Amino acid sequence: VSRATLSTVGRVRLTFFGVRGSCPCAGDAYRRVGGNTSSTLLSVEGEEPLILDLGTGLRALGDALGEVADGPLRAHALLTHLHFDHILGLPFFAPLHEPGAHLTVYGPPQDSGAHLRDTLASAVQPPFFPVKMVEFGGEIDVKEVGDDRFEVGSVAVRATRVPHPGNTLGFRMEARGKSVVYLPDHQAPIGRAAVPDQVLELCAGADVLLHDAQYSDEEFAVKPDWGHSTVAYAVRVAAEAGVRRLFLFHHDPSHTDHDVGVLLRRARRVADARHVAQISVATEGMTITV
Ligand SMILES: [Zn+2]
Ligand SMILES: [Zn+2]
Repeated sequence: VSRATLSTVGRVRLTFFGVRGSCPCAGDAYRRVGGNTSSTLLSVEGEEPLILDLGTGLRALGDALGEVADGPLRAHALLTHLHFDHILGLPFFAPLHEPGAHLTVYGPPQDSGAHLRDTLASAVQPPFFPVKMVEFGGEIDVKEVGDDRFEVGSVAVRATRVPHPGNTLGFRMEARGKSVVYLPDHQAPIGRAAVPDQVLELCAGADVLLHDAQYSDEEFAVKPDWGHSTVAYAVRVAAEAGVRRLFLFHHDPSHTDHDVGVLLRRARRVADARHVAQISVATEGMTITV
């Protein structure tokens, strides 16, 4: 990712640093799509960086921010939930170890009743990681959000609870007249015949939707309650919500580049029938203008 791709003049951009679901993977067979787990940078002209999830892609995202920084980090992160694949990059986010750095994290409250801040900190401490989160050089401010609307700078954010094991959020971001919806982990109903109202409202008319595309129909048949969607269900959500561009996201770690290509072709066949305007695979290192 170059300085040019991170420049945001006049634009709303997304850069994918991690697009994989569940567990990172590596090797020649995964080279094109990429092996890091969920972490995406939303860049809006004149605004501080907005990070979508803290998966292993966050390490490279931090390096990219470091290259263009002219002072300590000032950034915000929207955290969908606490599964490993969405938080594992946090300890390796280099800019946060510098004194004066500041990261605000917005994420879901926990059923345990413990504050999200303390729950997150309990995963980033010995013996899991050598340094306690609270001892990082920078400061992390953690805010709990449920079905909420709030502003991050001039970016309007809407959070909605979505079906997935544990408390899980989807997010809609609106800035400069553009809208992006982020739904990396979304349990499709067993019959996959209906989309929950709150999901349709979140996605309604979005310019870009990043959606869980973990399974083929065959895989879903044996993993119907593992928390995820099929590519065909991702297309259904996009079609029913009137989304302009759908990006298949949260690829299964067992899916090679070839497998993901097969799923894309299947998705496009479904999309043609359902009149979804544009459908692509989110790949690591890709920058798109919304
Ligand atoms: Zn996940
Ligand atoms: Zn999950």
